[in-house]
Amino acid sequence: MSILLLNGHVVPGDGSPELPDTDVLIEGGVITAMGKDLPHAADTRIDASGMVVMPGLVDAHRHVWQAPLRGIGADMTLPDYFSMVLGRALSAYRPEDARLAALLGAVEALDSGITSVFDWSNTTVTPEHTEAVLDGYAASGLRAVVGHTVPHSEADLKRLAALDGRISGGLAILGPQFGSWEDGIREIAVARELDLPVSMHASGGPGSPFPRMYEAGLLGPDLNLVHMNAMTPVEARMLADAGVAVTVTPVVEATMGHGVSAFGTFLDAGGHAALGTDVVVNAPADLFEPMRDTLRFERMRSRTMYPAVQVLSNATVHGARSIGLGNETGSLTVGKRADIILLDGLSQPSGGGVVASLTPANVHTVLVDGHIVKRHGLLVHHDLTALRTAGLELARRALA
Ligand SMILES: [Zn+2]
Repeated sequence: MSILLLNGHVVPGDGSPELPDTDVLIEGGVITAMGKDLPHAADTRIDASGMVVMPGLVDAHRHVWQAPLRGIGADMTLPDYFSMVLGRALSAYRPEDARLAALLGAVEALDSGITSVFDWSNTTVTPEHTEAVLDGYAASGLRAVVGHTVPHSEADLKRLAALDGRISGGLAILGPQFGSWEDGIREIAVARELDLPVSMHASGGPGSPFPRMYEAGLLGPDLNLVHMNAMTPVEARMLADAGVAVTVTPVVEATMGHGVSAFGTFLDAGGHAALGTDVVVNAPADLFEPMRDTLRFERMRSRTMYPAVQVLSNATVHGARSIGLGNETGSLTVGKRADIILLDGLSQPSGGGVVASLTPANVHTVLVDGHIVKRHGLLVHHDLTALRTAGLELARRALA
């Protein structure tokens, strides 16, 4: 099975130069060639003239299971969120609900041009729930790292560690800032034993455990710290030096009052943050708004015209690296898996134009692992309206 994307404006996503009027060849799910007028009779030919051809967006932090609860918490504080969403709603999710929610959230992500997600999967409370979540992703077509949230579920973690392909596993823990030092360090060791990436919410700043972890040699690129709004410049240098991933979710952080994005502090230290949507209870389900928020914050903070296209790398190549998928996806590079989106709507296609001016409505075509999941603006395999209707039923029961 081969696919040829013809004559598009290629934005590689890794900072290398944009390539106008360029073809991209995909064979067996892999990008095998890029260039002008590629001589190849492909099974499927897609005209990309006038469109941006770029890597699919990488959502490095999303609680995908909250898809049915979209918009219920516009004015929620963090304590409200803990009691209503992580308390009441989550406890009502049966395995079949966890499957439906993962599928709905994954399909909404695909529809908006997200091809990979780190799912902070709070619904993985029993082996049956975990199996249901994996089944939802198998049906969805999305590339997913399923972050299991119960660190002592040994069998589940081994099951996740054995996955190979479009769906893989991770560990999502309380971590040594919001939990105890001993638990955090032990759980990170369990994940390292199984070669699973680890994600944790953290603020950094006063009392942060990360300088202590740095001194003890416990930091590494397998750790993904989410938010970090209070991170100090000294701490940022330690994290950047150790290759630790930092993910910012600027829309939710501003909406819920977590503080100013840590993007710039990390950038000053030589680090490149990943971007996340986090929760759709009070934020949009796409990465265009987090990219645009990041661009605005950074231009105000630095008082420079920080280049828009650089923010695209945070949602592609840096995102992929941050969730352990840097070798598979995140850039249009020969040899990587074909996770590719085509975007229309720009009079002069450019990566910067994507960040400045586009929305999910401009997502024309989406490929994941070489499979076409959206074409001509329409999902190929899924009925989003029907999934949302089923999700409404779930939300009604979970919030009753
Ligand atoms: Zn979160």
